[in-house]
Amino acid sequence: MIRIQGPRAYVQGPGILKKLGSLVQPLGSHFLVVTGHTGMTRYRAAVEEGFREAGAAVEFVRFGGESTAAEADRVTALAREAGCDGVIGLGGGKVIDTGKLTAHRLGCAMVVVPTLASSDAPCSSLSIVYDEKGAVSEVVLLGRNPDLVAVDSEVIAQAPARMLACGMGDALATYYEARVCHENGFPNAIGTQIPVTGIGLARLCRDTLYADGLDAMEAVRAQKVTPALERVIEANTYLSAVGFECGGLSCAHALQDALSELEDCHGCYHGEKVAFGTLCLLAAEGRPEEEQRQAMDFCAQAGLPVTLAQLGLTEGVEEKLRSIQHLFCPPDDIAHSAPPGVDGGKLLSAIYQVDRRGRETLEKM
Ligand SMILES: [Zn+2]
Repeated sequence: MIRIQGPRAYVQGPGILKKLGSLVQPLGSHFLVVTGHTGMTRYRAAVEEGFREAGAAVEFVRFGGESTAAEADRVTALAREAGCDGVIGLGGGKVIDTGKLTAHRLGCAMVVVPTLASSDAPCSSLSIVYDEKGAVSEVVLLGRNPDLVAVDSEVIAQAPARMLACGMGDALATYYEARVCHENGFPNAIGTQIPVTGIGLARLCRDTLYADGLDAMEAVRAQKVTPALERVIEANTYLSAVGFECGGLSCAHALQDALSELEDCHGCYHGEKVAFGTLCLLAAEGRPEEEQRQAMDFCAQAGLPVTLAQLGLTEGVEEKLRSIQHLFCPPDDIAHSAPPGVDGGKLLSAIYQVDRRGRETLEKM
């Protein structure tokens, strides 16, 4: 069996925040926006103006800072009290997680408005719940993707370039991980066989990054919306999500999860660790030199980590890596299928190989 799923609607372009009021109208009549400090100070006025023009009701709740179960309880109670029939998560990853979880609990319209193109979380059908200390405590499978994902490219253009690079790092893994599942008949992230759509969208995601990724980085550094930036936002946000849910995950994400266990790597974002994990996956699989080189050069030029030092690992490296080696490809982890012949030992050697090549690459730049 195959299954294809994604958000019911995906819109992207400049000035979307002001249009949000009319965009959500078919989904409900009274919305609660969950957003952080930046959302309150920079975007609230534009959203309210749009809702006023559309004649729709909206209220705001300030996000508590961490996507915990208690925070979801609080926001759910507020939405219920206000009689809202739709929840909008406006902001970065954790705001989005809380917004999605709240809408899921209420069984109401789920709308996501990411202010960063830093991961594929906005379009996915899962929500990550953290504990009070910020460690992942649960991944909630929502059983549905958002009803609407709306991305304002002007907002993304003003975000730090590093965040766009993070999104590209996460998106870069999509094809290489889907290929592992596709070639070996492994199930995807939603437990079905890989549809041609999954592998096709994943490939398009990769090709878009290689064609436009570096130009898009230039665009965000200049805070300008360009066609290349628009295409990369779409790749990072839409193609990467639908690509991974339908195409499957593998060792790049398992390595990111493992690296997250080390305190030294806490200065790096999800997409940065995934990018490094992707390079290691390709090395462990023994993929053609040309392909490994293309991925390495892209990451180095985009400012994504290609060495252990860039990941924050400089002292006691061998010992630390050995302490997480059992997490590189745990045998019972069907969500991160390792290619045949690739095990923890092979991935550990791949990490050192990538680190060596990464240092050489940076020296030549
Ligand atoms: Zn990811």
